[in-house]
Amino acid sequence: MDLSHLLELTRAYLSSDKLAVIRQAYEFALKAHEGQLRRSGEPYLQHPLETAAILAELKLDAASIAAALLHDVPEDCNVPIEEIEAKFGPEVAKLVDGVTKLSQISGQVAEKPSRDDLQAESLRKMLVAMAEDLRVVFIKLADRLHNMRTLEALPLARRRAVARETMEVYAPLAHRLGIGRIQSELEDLAFYNLEPLKYRHIKHLLTRREAEQELLVKEAVDMLEKELEKAGLKAKVSGRSKSIYSIHRKMERYAQLGRNLDDIHDIIAIRVLVDRVEECYHALGIVHSLWHPIAAEFNDYIATPKENGYRSLHTTVMCFNVPIEVQIRTHEMHESAEYGLSAHWVYKEGAKQDEFGQRIARLRQLLEWHKEITGTAQFLELVKADVFQDQVFVYTPKGEIKNLPAGSTPVDFAYHIHSGIGHRCIGAKVNGKLVPLTTYLRNGDTVEILVGKPGKGPSRDWLNPNLGYVNTSRARDRIRQWFRKESRAQNIEKGREILEKEMKRLGITLGNREELARSFKYEDVDDFYAAIGYGDLSASQVTLKLAAQEEQPKVKGPLPAAGTAPLGVKVLGSGDLLTRLAKCCSPLPGDEIIGYITRTTGVTVHRKDCPNVLHEKEKERLVEVEWGRTDQLYPVWIRVDAWDRVGLVRDITTVVSNEGVNIASMKSLGHGDNSASVFLTLETKGVAQLSRLLAKIEAIGGVTNVVRGSE
Ligand code: MN
Repeated sequence: MDLSHLLELTRAYLSSDKLAVIRQAYEFALKAHEGQLRRSGEPYLQHPLETAAILAELKLDAASIAAALLHDVPEDCNVPIEEIEAKFGPEVAKLVDGVTKLSQISGQVAEKPSRDDLQAESLRKMLVAMAEDLRVVFIKLADRLHNMRTLEALPLARRRAVARETMEVYAPLAHRLGIGRIQSELEDLAFYNLEPLKYRHIKHLLTRREAEQELLVKEAVDMLEKELEKAGLKAKVSGRSKSIYSIHRKMERYAQLGRNLDDIHDIIAIRVLVDRVEECYHALGIVHSLWHPIAAEFNDYIATPKENGYRSLHTTVMCFNVPIEVQIRTHEMHESAEYGLSAHWVYKEGAKQDEFGQRIARLRQLLEWHKEITGTAQFLELVKADVFQDQVFVYTPKGEIKNLPAGSTPVDFAYHIHSGIGHRCIGAKVNGKLVPLTTYLRNGDTVEILVGKPGKGPSRDWLNPNLGYVNTSRARDRIRQWFRKESRAQNIEKGREILEKEMKRLGITLGNREELARSFKYEDVDDFYAAIGYGDLSASQVTLKLAAQEEQPKVKGPLPAAGTAPLGVKVLGSGDLLTRLAKCCSPLPGDEIIGYITRTTGVTVHRKDCPNVLHEKEKERLVEVEWGRTDQLYPVWIRVDAWDRVGLVRDITTVVSNEGVNIASMKSLGHGDNSASVFLTLETKGVAQLSRLLAKIEAIGGVTNVVRGSE
């Protein structure tokens, strides 16, 4: 591999002005790695070049190719990332930095001799979570693929460790990202290094049958091609042998069923590529009329895509008394299956560079961007739910990965390890540095808990939600259990003290204690105090209730069910079309609007600046609309940020109702730092009224910000 070969690969899909940065990255890497050799004896530069070439085959953008060329420069040549940023800009620098960080994690873990499946799964998730930008994961996969191709140079023990990690972590990761091409090569290479005898056995089996099979495949392909042509279908038919590792897995499944190796005939497969989805089913019918299908071996992954977004029809048929697997899919599905998410990544000529860069900078944005793509969206949804929103992955000092809810603190971590550690926790080090116990843990942190004397108990402050020591229910439960074991007298005393302190701070008077205790379902005031003492009831729950009694908001009747009533919108140039207001942007009379013709529910009315409209690909489905009569009420959602104080909610509701606006729903949320947000759904007559109202709310004491948004 040399530069000109790489440029040739990239020129196939990138415009020539994009090649400059690749050339520049090459020159830089050439200098940086000068004199360095790989274990195999070849110049080190071969490795980044080959890595970049793998990505060029996946048609990744120029920034990814440049980053691949530079990926080992910071670590192996001691070039600071700042220098790369100065030379190549923040996008490339971020990618390079991301790859360096991932390599550090996986390096750490590869050192550990054995890991269970859970650890492997955690690591896969952590890699994705840490990467932030999925392009980093692609570069890492390409890096690993080239290292696997050249594994021979390493000593045996190291080879096996890397192969195992590849099998446990990287191949499944490629699978989840839907890059079939990289997945099967990684699996075969890892299998070869882990089970050389089995590998050779299958390889031998395949070679022995090669001649016989080639003939069979050729005949079958010819036959099918003819039939498809007769039916007027434009299709591309090809035959291939399955990957060695996939045959191995099939053999294992067969062995479990007590069947012999020689029963495995369907080691060949025929692939049919057509243009449109309907043609897939048409082709399927032709295959089944030509050869007899084995009923149990049919899968419709088009109707029900695999979790990673894979779509195809799979059927096994008897052809010349031999079972053959036939896969039928569209060209587009095929691209997706081979290149996975990277297929959606290909640099789009014509898209503005800035816009493109911004959109793919973070996976989150990508999630929005690709939510229309079935399968992919499903997968990304999974990743999002799995990784981004609610989990954080951290290390114990021994290098084990622990998986905690996002927002966890060192105290949560301590209780996650063991309640004994939690109770004795007096401090924590994150990545070797002492940190406050309220610190949020981040992906990849190594957390060490400092413990006090045995018998030391937790602090009551940990139960105060406003102080933020504890954010998992597990830790909270364990702490309460500890305090529950204390003497009743102590808990009552503590509870009274906590409540009085809190009331004083907020300037609330307590009134009738028996009544208050009963409102929380405690017959006895002492029980009530004790519950606060051991944390079953928090002082803020009590004060919130008292405050709420003072400020019951007036809520008027419910809205007409959103979006169903005939609305004051006219669709231009057509008759009576059913219209509804889009929930994403909740347009109001006075807003510039546009209609979107849905497949089933008529026309949805969006604001013209709604991101869903701006990113709509099928522009022909957009239709001009205008506001008709405006005496109707429209729902709008607003958020008020303010310093929390008694009477805040009352003041807001007063201003709203003085303006003659209805409140359809309202909720407030304290942030634990004396600030709060109040969320209201209002029924207004339009933008003019709303803007008047927002100005008035902004003038309320303590309010810092008012925004209109979508729910
Ligand atoms: Mn590398």
